[in-house]
Amino acid sequence: MIHQANLSVESQWQKELKQSYTKPKDLLNYLNLPVADFEKDFEARKLFNMRVPRYFASLMEKGNPNDPLFLQVMPQIQEFIEKAGYEADPLKEHDSEMPGLLHKYKSRVLIMFRTGCAVNCRYCFRREFPYADNAVNKEKLTQVLDYISQNKQINEVILSGGDPLMANDQAIAWFVEQCESISHLKRLRIHTRLPVVMPSRVTKELIDSLQQSRLKAIVVLHINHHKEISEQLILACSKLNNAGITLFNQAVLLKNINDTVHTQVLLAERLFDSGILPYYLHLLDKVTGVTHFNLTEAESKKIYEGMLAELPGFLVPKLVREVGGESSKTPVLP
Ligand SMILES: *Cc1c(COP(=O)(O)O)cnc(C)c1O
Ligand code: SF4
Repeated sequence: MIHQANLSVESQWQKELKQSYTKPKDLLNYLNLPVADFEKDFEARKLFNMRVPRYFASLMEKGNPNDPLFLQVMPQIQEFIEKAGYEADPLKEHDSEMPGLLHKYKSRVLIMFRTGCAVNCRYCFRREFPYADNAVNKEKLTQVLDYISQNKQINEVILSGGDPLMANDQAIAWFVEQCESISHLKRLRIHTRLPVVMPSRVTKELIDSLQQSRLKAIVVLHINHHKEISEQLILACSKLNNAGITLFNQAVLLKNINDTVHTQVLLAERLFDSGILPYYLHLLDKVTGVTHFNLTEAESKKIYEGMLAELPGFLVPKLVREVGGESSKTPVLP
């Protein structure tokens, strides 16, 4: 009998996932930050669990409570602030046509391929999402595939989440194969933050299944700050690029994190150096609990105008906001 050892072996990234920080105290101790100063913030975990991979924490500056990566993931007492205009479902997507599937735009469908993430970003618009009702199992995916087969105007499938790369490589390979047999599909897109918080997620198996597919593969990363781009991430990106996979980035404008022209220019430059093109710069989605991350529209436009003045056209992302019920992302023009 052949010994099928590799079926039960956990990948490196799955091991790393389990070692993530889930207690603020542990992260604070690692960063040499005084736990007592932050105790008031711990309660915000009730609203949204804390989850920070150790690798991502290693990119943070020790002893700096204003580190832009730390601020994205550390629970804060301000998350309890309720304010008019901030709601549980700003994008009106909690009731979708089919659980796990959003078909807002004619030519492309978005599938919530996996509900969890490797990191919990405090500003996330999906923090209130009723994932339990939308979790996709193989049976639901089969229904989703049926839906795509019957809708010939769809040429692109977008895997989103949560984070679709929380799925293991076999599950992704299976799904890619299913999509290949639908003749009107041309592209497969993956929206993910996982490689950014854990570059070990970019496995050979993952690259192989994307490279071998007849579908053109696109990976849209989510990087908000140039400090998130490490040598390890650059290496992972070059493997993806060498396999013919197109890399884009989407970022969210966040107060005190990336809200200067200078930071945005550094991000765009470092993205390009890493083989990634800036795609979208999102205004914050107004989900309950994120008031402290918000910039006004006027402030956002001012930053964007500075970017237009400093960057070559191909390094300027599209400034957009999502409006519930609209048929495309809504451009915000300076
Ligand atoms: C953003 C989004 C897409 C993709 O839109 P692009 O403009 O092609 O990047 C597709 N479906 C949904 C529901 C989305 O929110
Ligand atoms: S990785 Fe994306 S979906 Fe997950 S918490 Fe962060 S912003 Fe939200």
